[in-house]
Order: sequence, then structure tokens, then C-alpha cells
Amino acid sequence: MRTPIVMGNWKMHGGVSEARALATAIRDGLKRPRVEVAVCPPFTALGAVAEGLAGSPIGWGGQNCHWEEKGAFTGEIAPSMLTELGCRYVLLGHSERRHLFRETDEDINRKVTAALRHQLIPVLCLGETEEERRQGLTFTVVEGQLRTGWAGLGAEEIARTVLAYEPVWAIGTGVTATPAQAAEVHGYLRGLVSELASKEIAQSLRILYGGSVKPENAAELTQEPDIDGSLVGSASLQPQSFITIAKKSASKGGSSKE
Ligand code: PEP
Repeated sequence: MRTPIVMGNWKMHGGVSEARALATAIRDGLKRPRVEVAVCPPFTALGAVAEGLAGSPIGWGGQNCHWEEKGAFTGEIAPSMLTELGCRYVLLGHSERRHLFRETDEDINRKVTAALRHQLIPVLCLGETEEERRQGLTFTVVEGQLRTGWAGLGAEEIARTVLAYEPVWAIGTGVTATPAQAAEVHGYLRGLVSELASKEIAQSLRILYGGSVKPENAAELTQEPDIDGSLVGSASLQPQSFITIAKKSASKGGSSKE
């Protein structure tokens, strides 16, 4: 049985005091969550969020990291800087990083490898654009992103990762993939995990869905056997919405597809 994860991506929203207030409200609203819950605030707020969430069941993570340990990389954050602040997760390959900041699959692979070296759980984000879906390229695109994003990893390392299927056309648009559309891609990805790692790892690896998840659609998405929780953008900035999403994403049984 896989424990779902509900993860908030706060993107570039909130200074230290707003982040502290948001983290506190989420902590107070989710004292005993039935799923794993984490938030990814902006880097400058990580210290305050870590203080506010310490001792609670809510985890936290970074929204990105560099692959090098240190050096002349102005504006970048090393994985060890995240672990020092108690981060458990790091989002990698988010579509905004891929499209706005031109991150390649090779860059993302270096980041995934570096994150694992520092005992962070990389949440590798994958997803097709609207045009790619229209052209029938969804599986080809996510497969390429996965194969290159995980290149060089052994099965034991793959087992320490999380995937997030985030169709680009659903991110920040208010348009959510239907449970059937999402489930189809999740099933495909789980089959690939089986090929790239093992059947057992494919059964235990969490694959989150992201793209306009809201309190109204969280339950039906996570009812799908291969959807193991969600990566939530805008709704994670409203504590009540995020808390409701977490409450509606309760644990459920194993995968249907292999
Ligand atoms: C995201 O940025 O990862 C995301 C899923 O955003 P939203 O929920 O706003 O679509």
C-alpha cells in the first residue's frame, strides 16, 4: 500500500511572515493527516517554515536545487543547503523551470542525482504541453523525460524518488486532467518504472498528479488506483483549500496496472 503525498508548491509567493502564517495554519489544520503532507516555500522562507513545522507531521522541501555542491554559481542553491534546513524533498523539472528557465532533461538528471546524494527525495515532474497532447505525443514526451531524468540511477536510487505527472496545459490554468486522462499516464509511467527498476519498486513508488488540483477534484483524482496524491500550486496558498485537499486524499489500495 502506498501512502499518498499531498505537496504544496508555493512558487514565488510569500515573504517570511506570510510563509510562517501559512505553515502554521496548515500545521494546525492537519494535526494527524492520513496522508504524507509537505510544503515547498520560496528559499528565503524555508528557515521560518522549518521552525514552524518542526515536530509536526508536515514536511517541507525546496522548489529546485543545483547539482554542484558549491562554487561560482550565482543565484543557485546547493542540495546540502536544503538538507541543512531539514528539507525532505526537492521539486525538480517543474514545467516552469523547464519552459521559463530552459532546463533540459540532462540538467534535471544532474539535479536528481545530486539530490539523492544528499538524501533528499527528488520529486521529478513530467508532463506534456497541450500541443504535444494534440499530436498524440503524451507518452513519448513523458517517457523521454523519465528515461533521461533518471539516467544512470540504479534501482535502489529510483526507489528513493517520487514522480509528479503534471500536464503543462493543466498547470495554473484551472483546467484539470480528468481522472481517466491522468490515470492513463500514471499507469503508463508505472509500467516504465517496472521496466527501469523492478515490479516491486513500481508498486511502491508514489506518482503524484499536479495541475489545477482543488478541494472539488482532489478526491476523484486520488480515487484512481495509480494516483498517489497531488502536487498543488495555487490552491496550496489557501490554507483551508490545501487542508481540505489533504483530507480528501486519504490512503487507498495498490495499483491496478502493471
Ligand atoms: C504546480 O505548479 O505544480 C501546479 C500544479 O500548479 P496549479 O495547482 O496552480 O495548477
